[in-house]
Amino acid sequence: MVLTEVPKAVGFIYALVVIGVVAYLWYSHRWRQWIGWLLLIVSAALGFLIFSPVAPYQLQQLALRDVQGLGAPLIVGATGLTLVLLLTVIFGRFFCGYACPVGAVQEIAYLAPVPKLRPQQKVAFMVVRGVFFVIFLIMAVVFSASLLAFFGIHDFFNLALSAGSVVFLIMLLVSLVFYRPFCRLVCPYGLVLSLGAAKSLFRLRRTDACIECGKCEKACPTDEAKREDGKAECYLCGRCTDVCPRDALVYAKDRPPGKIQEK
Ligand code: SF4
Ligand code: SF4
Repeated sequence: MVLTEVPKAVGFIYALVVIGVVAYLWYSHRWRQWIGWLLLIVSAALGFLIFSPVAPYQLQQLALRDVQGLGAPLIVGATGLTLVLLLTVIFGRFFCGYACPVGAVQEIAYLAPVPKLRPQQKVAFMVVRGVFFVIFLIMAVVFSASLLAFFGIHDFFNLALSAGSVVFLIMLLVSLVFYRPFCRLVCPYGLVLSLGAAKSLFRLRRTDACIECGKCEKACPTDEAKREDGKAECYLCGRCTDVCPRDALVYAKDRPPGKIQEK
């Protein structure tokens, strides 16, 4: 049941705090996986309780110029979404990784101990999301219609049964085996943030300690762990750092000097 009396700004402030805190913890080598799981649970709960910060929906309402659905004046909504983009250009996709309820429920589903599908079709997935983005814009701007209504994130988090919420439920079931299908194939805000993350200042970088064993590449669910990968689809999930036998991946601004440390 969504608590309508709680200002949506609470979710936005939560998102800014999460980005700052998680970036600091990664940078200072204090990040622990249990912190990530805790944040995913809180973010998913915020989706159900106050339906915020669900940025893809807020981008949709902004495109529709729907002040009531946005929960804020258009300029405030646009400023908030731009601020998250700027933080992504600096720190990477911590918003998608840990603060967005839509990403959180998919990430939690993917933690299920079942066999995973990892098709290495990164470019094809980006093309699909690009096509959805064009459709999203045309529907909103030309026809004043909501593409995301078909994917049911509003109804799902409001626990309302509809064709859309069933579609999202199916995507959530797919998330058990395929990493973040909504984020990687559909989300229009995810596309915007992936463009920002591709240029991010801080990101996971390999040190000289790397022995090219390839374990991080096998563990990465988005095919972003190779040395030359742009990190547009890196959600800072930590699967690569967890498996690296040399602690050769660090979250840093510049390529750090090597440190050899057996795990
Ligand atoms: S495994 Fe590493 S490179 Fe891949 S998405 Fe997670 S943090 Fe990013
Ligand atoms: S798992 Fe570590 S040592 Fe192996 S290739 Fe990746 S960064 Fe290098």
